[in-house]
Amino acid sequence: MLKNLCTSAIILFLISSHFLVFAQEGLDKIVNPKTNGTGYVSNADHILSNETVAKLNALIKPLNENGKAQVAVVLVNSIGDQVPKDFSTALLRKWGIGDRKKNNGLLILFVADQRRIEFEVGYGLEGLLTDLTCQRIQQGLMIPYFKKGDYNSGVLKGVELVVETIDTGIDQSLDEDNLYPELGWVLFQDILFFLVYIGAYSAYTTSQRGQYVVHSASGWWVPFLLFGPLIIVSVVALATPIFVMWDLFFLISYCCWSVFFSFAIGNMLASEPVGETRVQQYQYLKLMVWGFTVYAVLFPLPFLIFKYIGAKRRLRKLRYTPYQSPDSGAEMVLMKKNRALELTDKEQMEEKLGSVSYDLWEAGEGDPVMKLAYLNQNTKIRRCKKCLSITAKKTKRIVESKATTKGEGIASVYYTCQICGKSDFINQPISRKPQLNIFKGMFAAGLASSGDSNSSSSDRSSSSSSSSSSDSSSSSSSSSDWGGGSSGGGGSGSSW
Ligand SMILES: [Zn+2]
Repeated sequence: MLKNLCTSAIILFLISSHFLVFAQEGLDKIVNPKTNGTGYVSNADHILSNETVAKLNALIKPLNENGKAQVAVVLVNSIGDQVPKDFSTALLRKWGIGDRKKNNGLLILFVADQRRIEFEVGYGLEGLLTDLTCQRIQQGLMIPYFKKGDYNSGVLKGVELVVETIDTGIDQSLDEDNLYPELGWVLFQDILFFLVYIGAYSAYTTSQRGQYVVHSASGWWVPFLLFGPLIIVSVVALATPIFVMWDLFFLISYCCWSVFFSFAIGNMLASEPVGETRVQQYQYLKLMVWGFTVYAVLFPLPFLIFKYIGAKRRLRKLRYTPYQSPDSGAEMVLMKKNRALELTDKEQMEEKLGSVSYDLWEAGEGDPVMKLAYLNQNTKIRRCKKCLSITAKKTKRIVESKATTKGEGIASVYYTCQICGKSDFINQPISRKPQLNIFKGMFAAGLASSGDSNSSSSDRSSSSSSSSSSDSSSSSSSSSDWGGGSSGGGGSGSSW
């Protein structure tokens, strides 16, 4: 019985070890740069240009000569359906990359069809090239180029930083200036976007109609309007690897905003206008449409556009559907000529200044004219305290105290009535300067967490049976002039 068990265990072992050998079969197909004397780069599928290969060899050669490390770069179109991590571990062992005693080998494996880059790190280098360091270099430097199909730059920049790290003994990936090659430009674009957005938002909220809309809103969504989507996206970004792809990050951020605004604003536009008369309803809806035009432009989602067009149509209907004459019941028409005869001097001045427009409806000769006043909520003309017409025009603005990032400023704005000549002034708050440190902090947080959030394939292979490792080191020493080093499966990989 016991004997049977032992036999089956041995058979199982033989079968499994046979499978191990079978799994590494493709290794023979990888061109060993040592055996055909081309240096340190295996580029049989011509993924890199000859120029890049020459640069890589020049970079790697000194490390080999001063005994700090042995680095091999292998680029292949495909390894079939084998796992790149297992493959790179096996290949490093088979070739014996690294000094036999120091085990200072590093294999950089690029698999095109699986869109995978693996760093296979020998024991001796694991202290310097930790999994985290490998991932920072891959995701912060190489993957952004790979995504754009620029394999030459991606591999070259990555190897440069690896070589510099090994050469100096200092983890160069900790210096963020070395990573995120185009982050500066992307950051600039995004900050520009935010500045435009904040500018539009603050200009809008400090305008008369903006204040009306913001103050008349229920309140909770106003701060959410600006920060809500940003917070949501930041939480998502910190919890997922999305932050590496800044373009996607901001696309999602923009989509969140768009969807949020579409529903919030669309519903407001579609709600029944407040007011007893058609004029009041018109004014209410007009305010909404005006106020949200900036958002319709910033977030042109079909849903919002339809609501917007619908609101415009309702506005026309409210204003221009003919009234019935209260006397004769006849349909009235809008007066186009001789309007001056029906309007007072004040009203004419108001129309001239654009603060009020008057609709004059008449049924026929001799019938009384119906006069409807439409206040222009978008006007900068104020109501005169003396004659009560909306004819006070701004003459000058004096800044009493400047706005800072900590508090509002105050400006005195002077007005003169164009009818009676009375001068007056109002104190106007100047919006606090927006604090951009919030964004800075978020970007920093995104960068700091960049190391540990992506898929770590540090599958520390337990299958490294002693027989296979001794087998590989012996074969490596005979078949190549790599140093005969080995790997415990250290290092890390990233996909793009
Ligand atoms: Zn006046």
